[in-house]
Amino acid sequence: MTTIGITTTVPIEVLMAAGYKPVDLNNVFISDPDPERLVNVAEKAGFPLNCCAWIKGIYGVVMEQGIQDVLCVTTGDCSNTIMLMEVFRLRGLNVIPFAFPDRPSISHMQRTLESLTETLGTTLEEAEKARQAFEKTRRLADELDELTWRDGLVSGWENHYWLVSTSDFMGDHTEYERRLSQLIEESRGRKPYPDDMLRLAYIGVPSVFGKDLYPYLEGQGARVVFNEIQRQFAMPNPGSSLAEQYTSYTYPYSIFDRLKDILPQLRLRRVDGVIHYVQAFCHRGIGDIIFRHYIDLPILTIEGNADFMLTHHLRTRLEAFLDMLRRRAPAHVHPKARGS
Ligand code: SF4
Repeated sequence: MTTIGITTTVPIEVLMAAGYKPVDLNNVFISDPDPERLVNVAEKAGFPLNCCAWIKGIYGVVMEQGIQDVLCVTTGDCSNTIMLMEVFRLRGLNVIPFAFPDRPSISHMQRTLESLTETLGTTLEEAEKARQAFEKTRRLADELDELTWRDGLVSGWENHYWLVSTSDFMGDHTEYERRLSQLIEESRGRKPYPDDMLRLAYIGVPSVFGKDLYPYLEGQGARVVFNEIQRQFAMPNPGSSLAEQYTSYTYPYSIFDRLKDILPQLRLRRVDGVIHYVQAFCHRGIGDIIFRHYIDLPILTIEGNADFMLTHHLRTRLEAFLDMLRRRAPAHVHPKARGS
């Protein structure tokens, strides 16, 4: 199988059907023991200081690992990817542009998928077989999510890690499924989190300091029960075809489409407060205006750049936010949602 780098979640079923092994370059970047080194590779190549760290990290991974094929998402993710793609071309890589439809529409998605299968020399029938092969794995990811928000048995970090990893199933969906089943089994024997912990939602792109953020919040008596985009990567509404699955996937579309998923989930998961993460120099930060207009809960907007641990300043802001949430609901209790 030929490795193909992907710049965000894409219809990996088509890539698999075409004989590729998709690797999410974001996940490789952020799991590296020294991600700063990868950012430096890009800056040495001339990427500006005021360019998003994820873009630079992706470039660093591709250069360091000598990846030759990259599927670059040009619509539905990040406008910077267009220029990143041009630089990859300059370096002699085989780049395949992929554009999500500009709005969620099953017929548009169907045409988009057909065009991708043609480009990669496979068929939609073969890609549908891959979708069916992933069905059980996606259901397990959903189960993990329920064990997080409903049963309080899985941590916010575990939820983040396993859901974000569905973008490429860690390069081997069978192994991913085996390890996730094991975790689910093990979590059922755990003592649930206390009911009086604050319940948080995390919206926005995955952060550069996730490894530090989630345990820090738990240490402060709050846990993340909703990881918005990570959950979307796992395709919580798969429908009965690839076209349906990638139409109900909200991330590539407008914030209003994302809110149709976010608002009911905030209610269902009985969220007390929302953390909106924005990446420095990212256009998505502007969406904060819209989130604040529609979400009727306290929101803390935090920004990360290329600092892979929480800064002292951020810790203080998080602490103050949690204090405010506690003061807002002093007698707050969280009866278990199980059965309710
Ligand atoms: S965080 Fe924003 S700027 Fe960075 S890659 Fe993602 S969409 Fe692009």
